Amino acid sequence: MSSSSLLDSMVEALQVMPGIGPVSATRIAYYLLDRKRSEGLAMAKVIEQGLNNISICPHCRNYTDEKDQECELCSSAKRRNSGSICIVESPSDVMAIESSSSYSGNYFVLHGHLSPIDGIGPEELGFDVLTRRLKEENITEVILALGQTAEGEVTASYIAAIAKKLNISVSKIATGVPVGGELTSVDGNTLALSFNFRRKI
Ligand SMILES: [Zn+2]
Repeated sequence: MSSSSLLDSMVEALQVMPGIGPVSATRIAYYLLDRKRSEGLAMAKVIEQGLNNISICPHCRNYTDEKDQECELCSSAKRRNSGSICIVESPSDVMAIESSSSYSGNYFVLHGHLSPIDGIGPEELGFDVLTRRLKEENITEVILALGQTAEGEVTASYIAAIAKKLNISVSKIATGVPVGGELTSVDGNTLALSFNFRRKI
């Protein structure tokens, strides 16, 4: 408890960040007040704008600035005609793959993986939208780029079954992605290799 209830509220609010506990939150709050007031205000404004406006692309479920509008990646005719769709767990995976310059096709973002214990099933992951895309678009290859975790594997098998039923070839990135690891922790070169050496499943 400090001498200011506003300061206490700042410290509490900052703890919403991952890995930030009371000690770090207090340090950040004092740092902003002592030295970075204008920068802190600018940051708060940008965060507010982002949280209020960033939406989910209805086509690939990646983040986009315009509500109900397709994102920039989906608007590319070259990507649309590529015939491939890469399935990832989170928007940050799309960013990681894009910075590796190893892939230039379509994406689909699940925003998680199958996890019945947390109430995350096919519906929450947008499998209806994905299945519709696989049926309606000229997709010839599904590339699974999910985390190499038990849940990621189960999710991959589920999607592979849907794709195979529609006679679409399914491959999976492999080399270099650590077991139990997240895609965002893999460097661009390793990720590029993973794409080049993807295997059919
Ligand atoms: Zn999109």
